[in-house]
Amino acid sequence: MSPAQSSALGPVARAGAGGQPRPRVSFEFSPPKGPKSEESLWEAIRRLEPLNPEFVSVTYGAGGSTRERTHRTVVRILKETTLKPAAHLTCVEASRADVDEVIQDYWDAGIRHIVALRGDPPGSLGGAYTPRSDGYQNATELTAGIKAIAPFDVSVGVYPQIHPESPSIDHDIEVLKAKVDAGATRAISNFFFDIDGYLRFVDRIRKAGVEVPILPGIMPVSSFSGLANMSGRIGVEIPGWLATHFDGLDEDPETRKLVAASVAAEMCARLAEEGFSDFHFYTLNRADLVYAICRVLGVRETPPAQPKEAAA
Ligand SMILES: Cc1cc2nc3c(=O)[nH]c(=O)nc-3n(C[C@H](O)[C@H](O)[C@H](O)COP(=O)(O)OP(=O)(O)OC[C@H]3O[C@@H](n4cnc5c(N)ncnc54)[C@H](O)[C@@H]3O)c2cc1C
Repeated sequence: MSPAQSSALGPVARAGAGGQPRPRVSFEFSPPKGPKSEESLWEAIRRLEPLNPEFVSVTYGAGGSTRERTHRTVVRILKETTLKPAAHLTCVEASRADVDEVIQDYWDAGIRHIVALRGDPPGSLGGAYTPRSDGYQNATELTAGIKAIAPFDVSVGVYPQIHPESPSIDHDIEVLKAKVDAGATRAISNFFFDIDGYLRFVDRIRKAGVEVPILPGIMPVSSFSGLANMSGRIGVEIPGWLATHFDGLDEDPETRKLVAASVAAEMCARLAEEGFSDFHFYTLNRADLVYAICRVLGVRETPPAQPKEAAA
């Protein structure tokens, strides 16, 4: 396609027209609550597996409430799929000894990647956090603790619109630097909808000398009311244009899905044009939207790049 032809297209169509390298993608899942949700989680995993993501991660419930389920899910992914699983881990309501035991269990089971997070107080998303005196105080300490146990690959969280407890973006960037100094090799962002704000945020991180990959966290929103309910508590601003897109669609899940896929695809295509080549998708344990967005970005079924690392 000639430059003149391609500039006549929007970012999504340009992404489909080729010319950009295949993006690297990763997918986040949550551990299932029961047999029915286990079935739908595994349908999603199987559908997304052939896209050969860089890794898939499994969240850790508030206060360690999903400790066993998260462990079971990442180990099953490791054993039964070609995927490289990462386990989320938090410091909430646990002693260092408890958390160290979980870390060692992961290493022994062959897991090599942990997403290290402080966590939120159970039952109070966005509420005040009181660390346990005998526990890891924050994700910086947790990252150092993980690295002291075994040479895991450690990812950490970042917040393009400021963590709700932080006094400033500069403070957040200092915290990210500390987490990288403690051994983190990648940051995954909270979801966001303000692309220009995200670009400025990453620019400030780079200017502060932090060079690890920063993966934009993309949330394809199919339940706008659920998103609006959660966003205020975790400090994510919902732009007016997004609310307008979903206005009047409360009883129309099919159209909501189409809108969600087109918004997320547009965001990713724009970020790809800005030079971003890694995308982390919050799947909410459903494959359909993420699969469609990946196709739009040029991510297709491919054989796994390399054999999975054998368990030690
Ligand atoms: C990609 C991603 C995945 C997530 N997955 C989960 C999950 O699975 N389970 C879950 O419960 N929650 C999860 N969360 C939410 C997360 O636990 C909360 O946002 C929590 O409030 C902060 O976690 P953090 O790791 O960013 O905290 P930290 O980076 O530890 O920061 C928290 C506070 O500690 C302070 N702090 C940290 N390090 C230092 C330092 N070196 N010096 C001084 N102060 C410091 C900071 O000022 C900040 O106020 C996730 C968030 C993201 C972005």
